[in-house]
Amino acid sequence: MSIVAVDVQGQIDRFNAGIQERNPAEYEFHQAVQEFTEMVMPYVLSHQKYSDAHILERMTEPDRIVIFRVCWENDEGTICCNRAWRVQFNNAIGPYKGGMRFHPSVTQSVLKFLGFEQVYKNALTGLPMGGAKGGSNFNPKGKSDREVMRFCQSLMTELSRHIGEDTDVPAGDIGVGTREISYLFGQYKRLQNRFAGALTGKGLAFGGSLIRTEATGYGVVYFSKHMLERRCESLFDKTAIISGSGNVALYCAEKLLQEGAKVFTLSDSSGFIHDPDGIDQNKLAWIMTLKTERRGRINEYVKQYPTAIFYPGQRPWSIKADLAFPCATQNELDEADAKLLITNGIQLVAEGANMPSTLEAVHYMRKVGILFAPGKAANAGGVAVSGLEQSQNALRLPWTRKDVDRRLQDIMAHIHQQCVEYGEDKDRHMDYVRGANIAGFVKVADAMLAYGIA
Ligand code: NDP
Repeated sequence: MSIVAVDVQGQIDRFNAGIQERNPAEYEFHQAVQEFTEMVMPYVLSHQKYSDAHILERMTEPDRIVIFRVCWENDEGTICCNRAWRVQFNNAIGPYKGGMRFHPSVTQSVLKFLGFEQVYKNALTGLPMGGAKGGSNFNPKGKSDREVMRFCQSLMTELSRHIGEDTDVPAGDIGVGTREISYLFGQYKRLQNRFAGALTGKGLAFGGSLIRTEATGYGVVYFSKHMLERRCESLFDKTAIISGSGNVALYCAEKLLQEGAKVFTLSDSSGFIHDPDGIDQNKLAWIMTLKTERRGRINEYVKQYPTAIFYPGQRPWSIKADLAFPCATQNELDEADAKLLITNGIQLVAEGANMPSTLEAVHYMRKVGILFAPGKAANAGGVAVSGLEQSQNALRLPWTRKDVDRRLQDIMAHIHQQCVEYGEDKDRHMDYVRGANIAGFVKVADAMLAYGIA
């Protein structure tokens, strides 16, 4: 190792030790910053304007975090109390933008990691959007519609003071789908006495965009297509394993089927199903109804399609396939899983979820050199169409499905192109992690420098 290389590693280690000291026990946030700085630090050290400006210290401190109590009454008349947050991380290139997550695992650390990643993801889309994330430890699972409504209305009563179409525009995430966004938006509209596009993911009848529901999953597949095309390959006839069976996973599966690929697995937090015959369009339609209308569990699939097998408590990474799409949650693919995938001949891993791979898994997959797309790049299609929803709201003009899909495809192609610009080695080998992080960094850092010291 050269002296310069040793020094870069020393800088990375010292920087991350500082992050850990200033943000104690926020492990997910530490992980997200570490992955980012490992990629970006060499670039910062070779560009004095960034190192002189202490830009990384500034970028890893959120602009602000709002924490508040959410009280609501359940169907039995018992008063319940949850905690909610909005992490407004960085608005250097546009109003804050990022989803709301309702899940018992939500902590400030989780939302800081998500908000941090969102800043660079949003920058990659080429749209004017800053980065934020919010949510609550509220668990919508098993709650009645009325309970979810009361919770959402109570949460928005406080959140409405901090958001707005030119300030901060929340959207959905885990546990926050069309139902929750509708309750949140309805309450916002009531409180403000204005109809403004302050949330995205809205219903089509009240300002939502066509393709928004599909956008993240479709975008992951469009991005993967570009990765394969760069190697003169296609998705046609490839086999795929997917984790999750929520918004991202289901539309990732749908687009893969449209591209002629075969999908073997889907999962939820109870385990995964493996259908050796492949989950075709009809079976997928059945799962969509199960998940979105009946709010059922994935293991019900094997009763409907008995040739499939349900593996309780397991993740799908042991099943042989060409492509893997982790689309459930953070840290669901560890180093052992990565090794297993590679032993089984995986060619491509594209992250539909945010930070689904552990740091060790990312290191391993980069070292082996398989095609690996980080969530920042691969799953940016959702926020991109959210940005397009904002544009349509501002214009008061809805675009057609074809129009939005074409723009989504253009944006995913643009993101891929930026990754190539910063991530391609002399031998044409591609490092998408480096490419995505540096491309996002440059855009946000240059805007911050332009504002002076702030
Ligand atoms: P959904 O709530 O629609 O679905 C989440 C899926 O993941 C469900 O199948 C859920 O299973 C499973 N899951 C959630 N938590 C866990 C866990 N701890 N262990 C195992 N499985 C789990 O969420 P989305 O599909 O919207 O989001 C999935 C991922 O994609 C998240 O990381 C999110 O941040 C990311 N993402 C989402 C975008 C969007 O547009 N929706 C945009 C970009 C990224 P169960 O039902 O059993 O909980």
